[in-house]
Amino acid sequence: MALMDIVLEGDPRLRQPAAEITRIDKRLVKLAEDMFETMLAAPGVGLAGPQVGVMERIIVVHVPGDYIGEGEEDISYTLINPEIIAHTDEIEVATEGCLSIPEFIGDVPRWTEIQIKATELDGQTYIIEEYDWVARVLQHEIDHLNGIMFTDRVVDKSTIRPANEPQESNPETSEAS
Ligand code: ZN
Repeated sequence: MALMDIVLEGDPRLRQPAAEITRIDKRLVKLAEDMFETMLAAPGVGLAGPQVGVMERIIVVHVPGDYIGEGEEDISYTLINPEIIAHTDEIEVATEGCLSIPEFIGDVPRWTEIQIKATELDGQTYIIEEYDWVARVLQHEIDHLNGIMFTDRVVDKSTIRPANEPQESNPETSEAS
């Protein structure tokens, strides 16, 4: 496995839609492993192909159980061609960061519950239902596949602030992805 370089805001690749993946092979498995390792090392809770300069529809997510609730287990995903197929109308605003925008965080509205259709590395297609924090991270990563950055989603632009500023609310919510 190897760490990959993370592409930073300003790089045009972050603004381009990524291509559908049609083949799950050794190359893709290796890419997924390297992306996972890169995400954990950063550290971050999610990473999308374009963030490592790979313009393909793949995301990795690893949300520690502590972020979800006391006694909860870690949740990890490697998703190929993920697509949001349903969501609640309920929206929650929380602070997000991004490994491609290390200096800033901001408050982003996201759906609290989503259904995703995606292929995993076993080649099977799954319907995944996620809530709250994990749903937020998944929405953030899928946005990257469409050239959308979290700062585009910030409604109140005055909430975009330096990442190192002390926060009054939940410090976990600024975890980068
Ligand atoms: Zn991001």
